[in-house]
Amino acid sequence: MGEVDIGFVEECERWRLQSRFFPSKVGGEPAWLDLKNVPGAEDVQCGTCGDPCVFLCQVYAPYFANDATFHRTIFVFVCKKSECCKENYGGNLKVIREQLGRKNEFYPFDAPEEREDWRPDLTIDKWTKTCHVCGLSAPSKCAKCREVSYCCKSHQVIDWKTGHKEICNDPSKKLESPHKFLFSELELITESENSEDSEEEVDEVEREKREMEKFKLMVKTGKAGTLQSEKDVDGDLMKMVEDEDEVFTEFRNRVDKHPDQVLRYDRGGSPLYISAHNQPESIPKCEECGGDRQFEFQIMPQLLNYLGSSEDVKDLDWGVLAIFTCKNSCIPKSGYCSEFIWKQDIVGSKKSLSIKNS
Ligand SMILES: [Zn+2]
Ligand SMILES: [Zn+2]
Ligand SMILES: [Zn+2]
Ligand SMILES: [Zn+2]
Repeated sequence: MGEVDIGFVEECERWRLQSRFFPSKVGGEPAWLDLKNVPGAEDVQCGTCGDPCVFLCQVYAPYFANDATFHRTIFVFVCKKSECCKENYGGNLKVIREQLGRKNEFYPFDAPEEREDWRPDLTIDKWTKTCHVCGLSAPSKCAKCREVSYCCKSHQVIDWKTGHKEICNDPSKKLESPHKFLFSELELITESENSEDSEEEVDEVEREKREMEKFKLMVKTGKAGTLQSEKDVDGDLMKMVEDEDEVFTEFRNRVDKHPDQVLRYDRGGSPLYISAHNQPESIPKCEECGGDRQFEFQIMPQLLNYLGSSEDVKDLDWGVLAIFTCKNSCIPKSGYCSEFIWKQDIVGSKKSLSIKNS
């Protein structure tokens, strides 16, 4: 088994998460790599409602073997409307890949210096107008004040209702950033799964017990995002589910070594699936070059616990979000391209359980 890097979220000063420092992060606006070719609403359109999906996270993952991928970032988006969140359905999820050579028109050749006042001029505003709500490229403006830009009509409406109405005729009032509409902004840090100091020392019996509790709740609610909670539910039921799904047992064992992991990065490896049900049969070819795609990373259900407390994240749920990207990381003609994402829920086991019991 190859070496897997696992990701955790951490609080961090906002300036560190800007494009000039090539961050990996969760929430807030996307910190675009290419500041000129910025995806718009149509590039991350939800397959159900047609609105643009909201930025979920980005992973900075260069391929050093090739200069064209000296800088490389994968962006993930999700539509959080309840009618768009469906079991084992990934149509409300979108992935964008961007990359840049070491020599490029936006950033210096040498690595950035880790301080707030280093090159504050390296911002997207200089190149592209982005949506005040979500950070996608923004072709339209508020017709009254001409001060703020939007990616689509729907985000203009959201902004009007959540505060722009009060400040539209008063340019001196400060605009809130990041927008309340977005997920909480956090840094995403990674470390090796097998590194010594990250291993948690837990008594084996105690561990089993603790994990079983989490599992019970998860199956009862049908929501993998409850993996971290601690309520009690019926026991015999669980035994059956567990017997049925060895894949879940493996998932549970691996995750338990680092219960807070929100991401697993294993380029060219295999996803750690949560269930034997609903795994992809084949991965579509790269839309850009027609070549093969390979697994790159997966987002874990634990991330659901860090997206913020607002009412509108309550319908989001997933077991595994597996991201597959072009094996060659080909150069996208328009500066960015779409990649493939697969959503797997724990619901498969729940369904087969109810069939057994009836
Ligand atoms: Zn939607
Ligand atoms: Zn927008
Ligand atoms: Zn206005
Ligand atoms: Zn390709």
